[in-house]
Amino acid sequence: MTNRAIQHARGNGLWADPNVPRWGWILNNCYDLGREPEDRHTCEMCEAQAVRYLHEVYQDAFDRTLLVGRCCAAKLTGVSENALRRAEVTAPVLPSRRAAARRAELARLTLQLAALERQAVSR
Ligand SMILES: [Zn+2]
Repeated sequence: MTNRAIQHARGNGLWADPNVPRWGWILNNCYDLGREPEDRHTCEMCEAQAVRYLHEVYQDAFDRTLLVGRCCAAKLTGVSENALRRAEVTAPVLPSRRAAARRAELARLTLQLAALERQAVSR
């Protein structure tokens, strides 16, 4: 078993916190973080799985929203993993962090180039 699997089986993260309810969670949304591994989000319940498909779950009495993986979403909401998998197919894709960084870098280089061009013209 990998370290992650052991952590998951032991019930680490919020699973170990007795103040976090195990019941009454509802599924609000599902998001796709895209293909890039660095865009994955750590499941906020088990804190062990890096997930591509985020399931947004909410618990009324606890008044908290968590972004969790399929496995924890299924345990919390009682929705089957197959049904969650079907929701993942049509989940909106969130913008990639790397793409955002690339756009920022491009904007910075464009400004630099414009400054260099101004210098060249004024010489
Ligand atoms: Zn999890």
